[in-house]
Amino acid sequence: MPHTLPYLDESPFAAEVLSRAQIALTDLDGTLLGLGGSVLIDATGAPALTTVQAIVEVNKAGLEVVVCTGRNRIQAGEVSRILGWESFIAELGCIVKHGRGEAVEYLLGEWPDGVLLANETPYHAITRLGGLRVLTDTFPGKIEEHDPWHTDREVTHVLRGSLDCATAQAALNTLTVPIDIIDNGIIHPPRHTLMDVDEVHVYHLVPRGTSKEHAIRELLARRGLTPADAVAIGDSTTDVEMMNAAALGVLVKNALADPRVLSAIEGLDTIVATRAERGDGWAEFAHAWLAARATALAPL
Ligand SMILES: [Mg+2]
Repeated sequence: MPHTLPYLDESPFAAEVLSRAQIALTDLDGTLLGLGGSVLIDATGAPALTTVQAIVEVNKAGLEVVVCTGRNRIQAGEVSRILGWESFIAELGCIVKHGRGEAVEYLLGEWPDGVLLANETPYHAITRLGGLRVLTDTFPGKIEEHDPWHTDREVTHVLRGSLDCATAQAALNTLTVPIDIIDNGIIHPPRHTLMDVDEVHVYHLVPRGTSKEHAIRELLARRGLTPADAVAIGDSTTDVEMMNAAALGVLVKNALADPRVLSAIEGLDTIVATRAERGDGWAEFAHAWLAARATALAPL
């Protein structure tokens, strides 16, 4: 399916939004980071400074970037600190750090107050309330924790396996708190203990009503900003969702190879594409942002 998205560098709409955008929400994997998760390689996998130079320029200009990722708090916090950024959104919008020195907050969507026991994380509450048990009971041998990525999580669970999501959701709906299952696509784990599974998917268990989009709206509101002040950049369907909370969405070129992304953006007219992939595409976005800001500030 060919895409019909305008390119970032040929969109007057994008330039107009970027000229007043104050904050960018960015995905990490497949977007800011190159192959293998490095910020110091280009889209082909060769060592390069392209992305970090763009980051330095954005930081020098005083523009704010907020990492918005499925990764856990420790990972999101460390990456942000290393790149010079103060705030982040982790675990698919369930964890928000609003700025330097601020405590991390959990966003738990439709969960009522009082679900958590003293000193219990939402992650442990999902286990205690049977979120994993109902799935392993319903699909024996077909679902397991996505080792080692399941460690150090505080809200969401990361699982791998092969199951029918509608049946899994029905099983989860028997629990006393609302928990949703999200299929995050096919993976190829080097090892697993699943039985008779041909195609392995990664799944997230999340409190119902949470999302990257919701977390971004919270973060913007805390600063007195609105989606009109924000731009979002990413490469996956969960990133398209966060683009609903921003005036402009930017997809790095590699996103366009995913048919699920192409169907997710159908009917949306606030999304543009970069010409380069991954971190190179991110640098392309950063330069467009800086150029649009400079044009807006230039004397007539
Ligand atoms: Mg990604």
